[in-house]
Amino acid sequence: GKKNLNRLERSDWWHRTPVKDIQGVAVTIDATTTVNDAVISLFLEDVGTLIVVDEEHHLTGIVSRKDLLKVTLGNAQAASMPIQLVMTKQPKVTTVTPEDSVYEAARKMIYYQIDSLPVVKETDNKPNLLKVVGRVTKTNIVKALIEVESEA
Ligand code: ADP
Repeated sequence: GKKNLNRLERSDWWHRTPVKDIQGVAVTIDATTTVNDAVISLFLEDVGTLIVVDEEHHLTGIVSRKDLLKVTLGNAQAASMPIQLVMTKQPKVTTVTPEDSVYEAARKMIYYQIDSLPVVKETDNKPNLLKVVGRVTKTNIVKALIEVESEA
């Protein structure tokens, strides 16, 4: 890694580093997945949010652990419900592109009070369809910051 980063270079890191350098794999499910199976995925994949996609991996929604808690509390039928009824739906999902800066991703997560963002690419000739190519979380950013700091 790069040695002896000065103060200026470190603050520049936020703006210079693209999301694609720190993003992780998107854990995805489809809209017909039941609440029961979504909860199992959260545990098996060890994530806090699941990204909902169609057959072609286009973004259709996102579901967090609190969304799942809320629907299951006091509702015996909830486990068999499709995630479609619980998720935050497109176009309400906040996203970033691989070329956006880490700063932009961090800014969006703080501003919208969310823990993760799907990383998406626009599809040619279908402007409303966003292809999911990854996921960026607050943890990804903190880890990358620690790496930069320990290289300094
Ligand atoms: P949790 O609520 O489990 O702590 P979040 O803070 O990430 O997780 O999610 C809060 C709410 O925002 C949930 O209702 C979730 O569906 C929604 N949400 C999560 N990520 C996004 C996103 N990238 N864009 C829009 N809404 C989101």
